[in-house]
Amino acid sequence: MFNKAKNIKDTYLRQEMWPSIFCTGCGIGNVLNYALRAVDTIGFDIDDMVFCSGIGCSSRLPGYIEADGLHTTHGRAIAFATGVKMADPDLNVIVFTGDGDCAGIGGNHFIHAARRNVDLTVICVNNYTYGMTGGQVSPTTPPGSLTTTTPYGNLEEPFDLCRLAIGAGAPYVARWTPGFPYETTEAIEKGIRKKGFSFIEILAPCPTGFGKENRLREAKDAWDWYRENSITRARLLELTPEERAKNEKVVVGTLYEADRPELTARYGEFVKGLEA
Ligand code: SF4
Repeated sequence: MFNKAKNIKDTYLRQEMWPSIFCTGCGIGNVLNYALRAVDTIGFDIDDMVFCSGIGCSSRLPGYIEADGLHTTHGRAIAFATGVKMADPDLNVIVFTGDGDCAGIGGNHFIHAARRNVDLTVICVNNYTYGMTGGQVSPTTPPGSLTTTTPYGNLEEPFDLCRLAIGAGAPYVARWTPGFPYETTEAIEKGIRKKGFSFIEILAPCPTGFGKENRLREAKDAWDWYRENSITRARLLELTPEERAKNEKVVVGTLYEADRPELTARYGEFVKGLEA
């Protein structure tokens, strides 16, 4: 359990970066809080960590942390992070990404990193939109949603990012919303501890981009909506098969956990074999 009293801001953040750029009611700041509490609970030396990101609101997060970070190009956070990890497998590498960055522009890097099982912790803030650029439709926007590029409603089916990660080979996959602070923090902690590719999707409100078009402009409405429209996996399993079949809420919890050989460890063994 994390130390609730600990002042994460004074301990881990660059003081000169405040106030943050995040809008009122945005879930991204909470994600930063939970991620750093997970790091603190594990007790890693911050100098042994690297935080990578691409482009988008959530990709601003490494800039707030007093640690080594790479704020890279759109969709390429996982590719840069893979390079960091392969160059120095002792580093603990966390990627902050968004739905557009991870599954749109960076979709190929995402599925191949999961397939390779490279030891990264990918924290994807899925707010169903490209928030930074004005609220355009993204690969996870729910059907029927209004966005600046789908003013009559989104016709496309969205990606289920967790199923995509599981299908591509990720050995740890979880989904939460910031309204579950302890569970989200614990999921990030588990993801960091996992030797392999961990994917934690966090469904987070974007009142400014997605919310303004979909009657979730007020912060309280947005946060309530996420809480009311999600169901824990544990609760789902308590339902009757008939009730489960009718469930339309998003399932949150640990969705997959397995053990698979990790790439940097295999690569290290391979190199040793060549040198022998
Ligand atoms: Fe958050 Fe959306 Fe504002 Fe970006 S535009 S900071 S995602 S609320």
